[in-house]
Amino acid sequence: MKKIVFVLVLACCISSSFAQTGKKFIDPANMDLSVKPGDNFYLYANGNWVKNTPVPASKTRWGSFDILTEESSKALRSLLEDAAAKPGSNSLMKRVGDFYASAMDSVAAENAGYKPIKPYLDAIAKITTKEQVLEQINYLRSHAIASPLYRIGVGQDARNVTKYIVSIGQGGTSLPDRDYYLKNDARSVAIRAAYGQYIVQLFILCAGDEAGSKQNLKAILDIEKALAGAQLSRVEMRDPVKLYNKFSVEALAAKTPTLNWQGTLSQLGYATKPDSVIVSNPKFMVFADSLLSAVSVSDWKAYLQWCVIREAAPFLNNDFVNANFAFNKVLSGQKEQTPRWQRMSNLIDGQLGELLGQLYVDKYFKPAAKERMLALVNNMQETFRNRISKLDWMSAETKEKALVKLSAYMKKIGYPDKWKNYDGLEIKRNDFLGNIQRCNQWQYNDNIHRLGKGVDKAEWNMTPSTVNAYYSPQKNEIVFPAGILRAPFFDFNADDALNYGGIAAVIGHEMTHGFDDQGRQFDADGNLHDWWTKADADEFKKRADEVVDQYNGFVMLDTLHVNGKLTLGENLADLGGLNIAYEAFKKTPQGMSDKKIDGFTPDQRFFINWSQVWRNNILPEAAAARLLTDSHSPGMYRSNGPLSNIDAFYKAFDVKEGDKMFKPKEKRTHIW
Ligand SMILES: [Zn+2]
Repeated sequence: MKKIVFVLVLACCISSSFAQTGKKFIDPANMDLSVKPGDNFYLYANGNWVKNTPVPASKTRWGSFDILTEESSKALRSLLEDAAAKPGSNSLMKRVGDFYASAMDSVAAENAGYKPIKPYLDAIAKITTKEQVLEQINYLRSHAIASPLYRIGVGQDARNVTKYIVSIGQGGTSLPDRDYYLKNDARSVAIRAAYGQYIVQLFILCAGDEAGSKQNLKAILDIEKALAGAQLSRVEMRDPVKLYNKFSVEALAAKTPTLNWQGTLSQLGYATKPDSVIVSNPKFMVFADSLLSAVSVSDWKAYLQWCVIREAAPFLNNDFVNANFAFNKVLSGQKEQTPRWQRMSNLIDGQLGELLGQLYVDKYFKPAAKERMLALVNNMQETFRNRISKLDWMSAETKEKALVKLSAYMKKIGYPDKWKNYDGLEIKRNDFLGNIQRCNQWQYNDNIHRLGKGVDKAEWNMTPSTVNAYYSPQKNEIVFPAGILRAPFFDFNADDALNYGGIAAVIGHEMTHGFDDQGRQFDADGNLHDWWTKADADEFKKRADEVVDQYNGFVMLDTLHVNGKLTLGENLADLGGLNIAYEAFKKTPQGMSDKKIDGFTPDQRFFINWSQVWRNNILPEAAAARLLTDSHSPGMYRSNGPLSNIDAFYKAFDVKEGDKMFKPKEKRTHIW
């Protein structure tokens, strides 16, 4: 089960503005100087870039972050091709290279058809009883083939973070959000229809007949829709207190007897028997339990076969891959399939990320970047410390605890100190699907065998080449992978204004996550534990609600609005991060001067780069999907939302009443 981490997702600063050519770092040709900065700063800073930069046919979004990610994946490709060409060299290179060779063997995939999953489908076809349905659910999970019905895994106990505990959560559905099953607007209906066609098509590709496949479709949609109806919404899932429900295994078994927890935990391979578990959504589990009794064996068989087929589809032959793409096209709008090398490089980065990461770091990461980054992180931490000390809305009592928490931040930069070497994992050059299964199995075993052991604080949740960053509340750590610490992103040829509007604001963003609406509920040790006085907590909520209202007012696509509650944590992190970065910038020589470069003052350059970081073009289908599922606001509002609340922005661009982004002073929100 995924740990809670708050990721930056849309990261940072590439573009002509950071080219290492010694040319202008801010290119006015990318801006639209005919737009008044106070009306729409994003269009002022990026208007011509937005007009002139189409989304490539094999992408759904194209912007600073996506361009960097593209470079990362090309770097991985060259490492993988090298490793595949000389596999004998060492065990690390051999495993990575053999995996890539197996993944690129499209002839073998064509010849195999659906054979790699046929044994699983045949085993499900033989089921005759409800007990066998449950056994099969457990079998698929413990063999890392699929995760039907619900989720389960081992993670830190949020109220006792030095210990691992079993967590059980809602799941069992395929579409990216419960709303797709439950809503009847035109978009949801069209996506459901495409999903239905996809299901029927894949069953036919697995030698099903049309009538039987359509029957399967009905069974699958009925089950998934019922499960979706019992799921909490994404906004409800943002409440860590609500999600923390501890049960003894006996108590859970009494509530959900059909799921047979004693038998299930043993079939799932837990060597250390858990005495208690955390259940994020107990009502969902009660419902899933009742569904197991209520639905017929034949319907469960269709559902379980579907779970196997849909996991494997992107990795089988062309018919499967094309059907998968046709369905994704409706969801995301993407026009052309991502090239095979890129899909496979991403897959291997996900599966063997810390082997591939060792090769990546050797070739692409300069240790000097780590030191410079650490200095910048420390500088930002010190600035944040001063800002907390000076807050006018927080009591001394809460401030003291906030400062303890901030000082305790663990900082991880570049790559892990201790690599996972995937000991015991076998990779075969001629068995692609088998390689995926064995990797998933290795990860499954690695996860369940943590139970009863000490928490591994050195572990990373992102691979080194990832162009992103995250904060983990339970480890109270900020993490910046090597992928985000390279030119042109991390560029000290540029002036401070640009680096502070870029990377420093990103650091501030991650730091603020420890104090956003979720992060603030965890203490310095990472435990879910309320350290706030009531008056301070009330004041925080009042200010956070203002931010919710501001973002609820932003329209993205025809009538679709930003969801201010879903995106609150990220919006708070953007606002806090930019404020901290600005104050830190003002301590630099450039921040203290008013010397113009390329016609812009230091403050103007700081804000222009902040906005350029977030520029992107996105297909309407992908935009609609993200509004529903992404906890980050669209690029334009990541740029403009915080600026409307920052006095220095008004001064830098002479923003006045009557300008569209203008807010009277008393309506500007100040939190961190
Ligand atoms: Zn974030």
